[in-house]
Amino acid sequence: MYDIVIIGGGPAAIAAGIYAARKKMKSVLVSDNIGGQSVVSDGIENWIGEMIIPGAELAGKLKKHIENYKDDIDLAIPQLVEKVEKNADGTFKIITNKEEYHTKTVLITSGGRHRSLGVPGEEKFNGRGVAYCATCDAPFFGGKTVVVVGDGNSGLEAVVDLIAYADKVYLLARGGELRGDTITQEEIRKSDKVEIIHFANTTEILGEIMVESLKYKDLNTGEEKEIATQGVFVEIGTVPNSEMVADLVELTKKGEIVVNHQTYATSVSGIFAAGDVCDTLYKQNNIAVGDSIKALLSASEFVKKSKLKK
Ligand SMILES: Cc1cc2nc3c(=O)[nH]c(=O)nc-3n(C[C@H](O)[C@H](O)[C@H](O)COP(=O)(O)OP(=O)(O)OC[C@H]3O[C@@H](n4cnc5c(N)ncnc54)[C@H](O)[C@@H]3O)c2cc1C
Repeated sequence: MYDIVIIGGGPAAIAAGIYAARKKMKSVLVSDNIGGQSVVSDGIENWIGEMIIPGAELAGKLKKHIENYKDDIDLAIPQLVEKVEKNADGTFKIITNKEEYHTKTVLITSGGRHRSLGVPGEEKFNGRGVAYCATCDAPFFGGKTVVVVGDGNSGLEAVVDLIAYADKVYLLARGGELRGDTITQEEIRKSDKVEIIHFANTTEILGEIMVESLKYKDLNTGEEKEIATQGVFVEIGTVPNSEMVADLVELTKKGEIVVNHQTYATSVSGIFAAGDVCDTLYKQNNIAVGDSIKALLSASEFVKKSKLKK
């Protein structure tokens, strides 16, 4: 019986793991990898203490840091958590693709993954013109025409990355105004490579072997239009990895785990959650770390109190 099972391997999980180990809680960290979402970034400029650090290097440092505590915390990597179940006595069973763990508390820090468009052609051309990470894939589109779908911060940042390589970048926005930061909007408006198309709803991605065009509906006129393109970058946000507790804890409509923002307790006593999987307003590395440490401290108090009760 563990005191805590930490689910995830991103910055939130590693921070909690280090605190759990140092508190000598009987703990295991279960994840399919170490590093988290920003592992693909080629330069993180707001990780406190580093002027700039590539995501892969940050992941390496997180790995080294948690492995330094390998005598105090079990590392179950790679393993995917499939389900969290609550037992009648208030403890939990964590079912992974390889094992089962029994624990007094659970800390869910399973983060998020990219959101798909769900249109015909998207899956077929994934990796053959359809991409989800401009930081990683922009260099493959040198001299080409690309379409970025999504006008939030990630969409605008994808356009900035692509301007450096592509000949032409279309930005498709669903509304009449761009949603991302004004400073990035100003940057992309300066480039004569960029064409912004408003009120556009992507309906299909077409091609033979590779992407050749994208169809969208003009939401003003209802007309269907087609753009010839070799690349489609889907930048429409993330989906929380909360499926393992979907029928157990309270979730928002978006599938984020609802937490108390002081204690990081969920709607189920003994289950805590932090980082991008939660209903936090700001999804950032440093925020995930801080929130997760608060969650871990709450879980530690929970374990102490339940020992006192016995
Ligand atoms: C391209 C990109 C660039 C970014 N750049 C920045 C930046 O410059 N600065 C910044 O502050 N933020 C940045 N972010 C946001 C930042 O990455 C996230 O806010 C942060 O990673 C959240 O950390 P987390 O630990 O909550 O979740 P994540 O980083 O998403 O980690 C979740 C972990 O859980 C694991 N996992 C998921 N499901 C399961 C399961 N069922 N079983 C086991 N393990 C599971 C995953 O494999 C992963 O290891 C960026 C994000 C992206 C996508």
